[in-house]
Amino acid sequence: MNSLRKYFQLLLLPETAPVGDFIEIDSQRMPVLYRRHARAKNYVIRLQTDRTIKVTLPRRGSMKFAQEFVCSRKPWLEKQWRTLVDRKIPPLTLRPGMEVLFRGKSVFLEVVQRGENWEMLLEDQCFAIPSPEGDLRPLMESHFKKLARAELVLRVEQLASSHGSTIRRVVVRNQKSRWGSCSRSGTISLNWRLILVPAMVSDYIIIHELMHLRELNHSTRFWSEVERVCPNYREAEDWLKSNSGRVGF
Ligand SMILES: [Zn+2]
Repeated sequence: MNSLRKYFQLLLLPETAPVGDFIEIDSQRMPVLYRRHARAKNYVIRLQTDRTIKVTLPRRGSMKFAQEFVCSRKPWLEKQWRTLVDRKIPPLTLRPGMEVLFRGKSVFLEVVQRGENWEMLLEDQCFAIPSPEGDLRPLMESHFKKLARAELVLRVEQLASSHGSTIRRVVVRNQKSRWGSCSRSGTISLNWRLILVPAMVSDYIIIHELMHLRELNHSTRFWSEVERVCPNYREAEDWLKSNSGRVGF
């Protein structure tokens, strides 16, 4: 009777508290959550759409075995991850302690309390937030948008003057799938997400758009102008191709 009750308790509360762990997949640090399940017969690994890895252990399974199992399945997880990136899954809920891309580096997001107030810390950035609860992504993004507006406009002015370009207007926007554009009337639009990428990459995007002020197409003449001003532009293009999943495109 006692063991029967215990069995039902396990069925009702099948999961133990998850144990925090991380695994590096395709240079991203992904959280691994281990859960015990009373009725699980095997160890099961799942890469979830919120970009966490869930591992189910049998009731009497070994945690050490589960961890080794995750490591041994790394190539498979990397393949799964690429599939998820290609499906353009929505960005995961942002919480303290998680990593975000900022100026081309992975940085940890921290939240600290100062008296009654909360602050978010990200590398050299520190700004007030109303609460540490819930998804911090919208707060972080609105801070990044302000930062991008100030920094990118200044950088366009610097690069335009050193390459002899005359700019009419620069706007920083929230484009869904492009880094920048240049209109016939000479307005340069830039994506605020350029704040997330390395300076070498965002400079290339700005130069690319500045060169469109001369050539509003992608002709051979345009590319040779880009290469003259930005000789390492292919390196920047490669970075963008291999990191599109990390910037939320
Ligand atoms: Zn272009």
